[in-house]
This record gives sequence, C-alpha cells and structure tokens, in this order.
Amino acid sequence: MPSSSPIIGTARPALDGPWQRTAQFAGLLDSNGQLASTIFAEMTDLARRTGAINLGQGFPDTDGPRVVLDAAKAAIAQGINQYSPGRGEPGLLAAIAEHQQRFYGLEWDPASEIIVTAGATEALAATVLALVRPGDEVITFEPFYDAYAAAIGLAGGEHVTVGLVPPTFQPDLHELDEAFSDKTRMVIVNDPNNPTGAVFTSEVLQRIVDLAVRHNAIIVTDEVYEHLVFDAATHVPIATLPGARDRTITISSAGKTFSVTGWKIGWAVGPAELIRAVLTVKQYLTYVNGAPFQPAVAAGLRLDDDFYAGVAADLQRKRDILMDGLRRAGLEPFCPSGTYFVLVGTASIGFADAADLARKLPELCGVVAVPASAFVRPEHAERYRSLLRFAFCKQEDVLREAASRLATLR
Ligand code: PMP
Ligand code: GLN
Repeated sequence: MPSSSPIIGTARPALDGPWQRTAQFAGLLDSNGQLASTIFAEMTDLARRTGAINLGQGFPDTDGPRVVLDAAKAAIAQGINQYSPGRGEPGLLAAIAEHQQRFYGLEWDPASEIIVTAGATEALAATVLALVRPGDEVITFEPFYDAYAAAIGLAGGEHVTVGLVPPTFQPDLHELDEAFSDKTRMVIVNDPNNPTGAVFTSEVLQRIVDLAVRHNAIIVTDEVYEHLVFDAATHVPIATLPGARDRTITISSAGKTFSVTGWKIGWAVGPAELIRAVLTVKQYLTYVNGAPFQPAVAAGLRLDDDFYAGVAADLQRKRDILMDGLRRAGLEPFCPSGTYFVLVGTASIGFADAADLARKLPELCGVVAVPASAFVRPEHAERYRSLLRFAFCKQEDVLREAASRLATLR
C-alpha cells in the first residue's frame, strides 16, 4: 500500500495510474508501490546502526583544502550571509569560466552561460525538468546514477538505457546507435562514470555527439568526477568535441574535487538559451544557493595545478590499497580509471546476489557497500546481480581495515 496520512490521505508524488510504472523505474516507488528512499540513505543508515565501515555512500572522511574551508569562514565573518544573485555570486561564475578555460580551453560567458546550483543534483533536475517534455525519450548509460531516472520520471520522460559492458564498461556502439531515434530529446552522459569508474574513450564520446547532432538531441554531461582520473586516463569534456558545444550542458560540483559534499554547490554551463531555461526552473527549486560557500568554491577553483594533481594522486593510492585488499579477499574488482568507486564481482566468493549480500555485509564482516542493481532498471538487474560498489574516498588505514574484514567472508 502507498504511504497514507490520517489528514491528507494518500501521500505520494503525483505519479498514480499510468505513471506508476514510470515512478517505479524512477526509484520513487519500490516494487510494492511504497515510497522509496535512495540506496545511499539506506546504506548509510545501515552503517550508522551497525557501526560498520561505510564504503557505501560516496563521501570523503577527511576535509578538503584548508584555504577553501577558511574562505567560507571568512565569508560568513564578512557578512556574505544573505541571498546571492539568482545565477550565483559573480566571483564564482567568473572562477567557473576561468576553470573551464584553464583546463579545457572552453570559453563561456559568466553572465549568460553559467549558473550556480544546489550541487550537481539540482543542476541535473532543473535541466531535465526544463528541457524534457512528457513522452520525450532520454538516453542514459546503464548502470546510471539514480538521480537521472528520478528526474526523467518526474518530467514524464521515457528513460532509454544503453548498457556499459564489463570489464571496461564502455558502451557497445551498435547498441548506442539503436537507442537514438527521432523521439530522443536528450542524452545524459556521466564521464568519469559512477558507479563503474569508467572513463569513456574519445571514440565513444564522438559517437554520442554525432548521434545527438543527427537526431537533434541535447547532450547533458555530468562531469562531477572531472579531476578524479588515474593512470594514463585524461578527462575529455564532451563539450570540447566537434559539434558538441552548442547543444551541450556541462554539469559539475565542488563536492568531489574539494571534498565538501555537504556544501552542495554545483553548476551548469552551456549555451545561453539552454542555461536560461534551466535557470527559469532552478529559481523555483531552490531560488539561490549558500552564499558564503560560493566565494570559498571560487578560491578552490583557482588553486594551482599541483592541488589538482595531488587530489588525483591521493585517490589513486587509495584505489590501489582497496583494489589490492579486495583481490586478496578473493573478490573480483574491475579497476576504475576515474571516480572514487570500484565495482566488484562477488560470485567468486560464493555470493551471486549482491543486493542480498549488501544487506547482510555489516553483520557478516562490518563493512557497508552498495549493490550495482541500485543503478539499473529492475528488468536489467540480473545482468549486474553479483556486483557491489565500494567507495575508496576514505583514509588509508580505514581501507586496509575494510579489506581485512572482507577477507573473512571467504
Ligand atoms: N552525479 C554523480 C554521478 C554523482 O555521483 C553525484 C554524487 N554526489 C552527483 C551527481 C551529485 O552531486 P552533488 O552532491 O553535487 O549534488
Ligand atoms: N554520489 C554519491 C554516491 O554515489 C552520493 C550520492 C547520494 O547520497 N545521493 O555514493
């Protein structure tokens, strides 16, 4: 039964009747029609209740750069505590433009082509709600970050998925071609990719652009992990590819790069007419965002190249510690090229159902992870059934301890 209140009766998102199916795909309702909470909230709650090491929800257990933290404190002390302008603090808009120029050679007008949002999550929701009409098809890759399905469902769009194929988790180009049609309004790309850790090849990115051009679709690219890439991988923003700039909205966030996931400062960058539509929706979602955090994020974006190289090197070391521990525990990790997540096969130690294992894991060995099935459509869950996602944005001794606990599962 849906959730019910004695005063207002049935309380649920307005997704009854024909929308029920969409709501279930979107993760808003569970398979019993009950209001659902996200897998991240569920698993972090499980970790809190059991005292297990939380490698489920992705958030760092150390603070970001001191200068960024101090800049937020200074902003509060200086009285930057009232509503910021609707688009965002001009200083942050300028810093986002400079950052796009410095790392990718992309030129954007801070006054018309950039807005600040409540994390990447709001940028995504506002973008989808602004630009997707009921019945429009929206393509994402699968596994997909859960917020995409929810935003598409809330907009009344049809969610079309293209599978990412292990072990490299690149999409099959033929399947990608087939997914596009004249109903395609938007394709959402997440590169570097959560939860697979894949960094898409230039061939894949260019094919997405070519298909979007051919079918006149909007590209939305979620690049929150833009600086978290390892080994020889480099991040190529899709907006830099021929044909992409005029139809692409690029989304990112301070949360990952500066280890401030709780600040919820993100941004969307793109052609002025698209950004204007996104801003029009955004102003009724949050109106504006945390004023004192904005100059602090601007200070972060202006940190020197050594800072950015250090973030990636630090995480790569953590990735290697966890990968090594997972292998020694008999698990089968797929080595990520980016993000702070690793997908791990659990069938090798006798657990075919990772969702079931995830719920038992705290009790079995005091660790929390997230099943990959939470990132897929229910009818595709079988394909990813034995995969668990572990986050490695944790202190090195925490990762070593988690690995030795996992080794007891064998
Ligand atoms: N996109 C992806 C792929 C993510 O992993 C996350 C997780 N934080 C977000 C968006 C949301 O970012 P934010 O916290 O800035 O809203
Ligand atoms: N992006 C983080 C993850 O994938 C946190 C997501 C969330 O809590 N919504 O774990």
